[in-house]
Amino acid sequence: AVIAHKEQVETAVHAYLSDSHEQALAVAANVDEKIAKGEAISPLAGVPGAIKDNICIQGQPATCASKMLENFIPPYNASVMEQLFSQDVVSLGKLNMDEFAMGGSTENSALAKTANPWNTDCVPGGSSGGSAAAVSSGSAIWALGSDTGGSIRQPASFCGVVGMKPTYGNVSRYGLIAFASSLDQIGPVTRDVTDAAIVMNAITGHDVKDSTSIPGDRPDYTKALVNDVKNIKIGVPKEYYGEGLNAEVRKAMDEAIETYKKLGAEIIEVSLPTTKYALSAYYIIALAEASTNLARYDGVSYGLRVPADNLVEMSTKTRTEGFGQEVQRRILLGTYVLSSGYYDAYYLKALKVRRLIKNEFDEAFKQVDLLLAPTAPNTSYKFGEKLNDPLAMYLEDVCTVPANLAGIPGISVPTGMSSSNLPIGMQLLGPAMGEEVLLRAAYTFE
Ligand code: GLN
Repeated sequence: AVIAHKEQVETAVHAYLSDSHEQALAVAANVDEKIAKGEAISPLAGVPGAIKDNICIQGQPATCASKMLENFIPPYNASVMEQLFSQDVVSLGKLNMDEFAMGGSTENSALAKTANPWNTDCVPGGSSGGSAAAVSSGSAIWALGSDTGGSIRQPASFCGVVGMKPTYGNVSRYGLIAFASSLDQIGPVTRDVTDAAIVMNAITGHDVKDSTSIPGDRPDYTKALVNDVKNIKIGVPKEYYGEGLNAEVRKAMDEAIETYKKLGAEIIEVSLPTTKYALSAYYIIALAEASTNLARYDGVSYGLRVPADNLVEMSTKTRTEGFGQEVQRRILLGTYVLSSGYYDAYYLKALKVRRLIKNEFDEAFKQVDLLLAPTAPNTSYKFGEKLNDPLAMYLEDVCTVPANLAGIPGISVPTGMSSSNLPIGMQLLGPAMGEEVLLRAAYTFE
């Protein structure tokens, strides 16, 4: 039924880059057999999902929506996929994204144009725009995305679905094609908070293949789905409500705060003064890491190779043709901030700002259980509106990047619609490994 629905909506939405219907139906048949035999099945068994195209599935394309990897077929599964497949999970295919997860509208995809299901003249957000658009249009019941600076939460808010960025190290990054390794996390995009907890259970866990994976057991996240926020302290960080925040988004946040008050939560205004430097620090650290991570695409080991007379020329031609404009811009900027003479002035300074931001969150979480902020300063917008103005596009990430810099979890939950009928999302942020309190508060709100 989902495949049939998908075939209808995809003509307008284009969330997918490739299909794996055959494998999906084979897994589904297996699940049917298990049910017939009375065998126990996992909660996600047979429920059709889809995967962002920067997460490796053996034998299926993983393009990162880039010409560089258009024909790349990974020879192994990401750890999250190993976990999911062992739970008889069905994947219908791979989802569109900004090239190498760099962007906030999915317009940087070199391979397809994905529309916002609420208004097909508008962007789905990004970089996990395919994941959010698929879940929102019903062409997948759940999806995996990746979030380096907001790429799960922001498209979830633009498409009216739930998106969760786990604590850095909660979910294995092994097999996630790297953008900025110290910021990247895989997480769920779902229709509601219950599904987010179910998908979190399926993908969480320590992984020896990821050296930054957090050791130890994980809780059962579905146990956090308790309809009660009495005595929960919710901080409202005033720096997230400043200049540039759309009036309708602001109103939706005020209403969410009122709802929480009525539900018995305590609301406390807090201050995180270093927030104003977060965006600058993010765009230095993320680009520095991207420039080194993307050095591997040299035409030798992976993906595209443009033939030339000698090695240097081959590599240059490959990278010039293989990478889109935004990726090239980021490699240039990232290389610049790491170069001798600028390293101390930019990169090292940004690392110090990052530490201050983390310290401020740590202090705030001594006072409150979680923080409430807009997911993005604006709702979705028309194609092309910000595409030729990278700075305007970067500014849209102002509310989401601090969580990545601090490594803390965040969840975006739909709060309502704007007057132009586009979804608005609210973001809850919690302390490291505090996913349970986030899920509980989000569940109660929903
Ligand atoms: N929009 C942000 C960027 O362009 C975040 C991307 C992401 O989280 N992958 O870097």
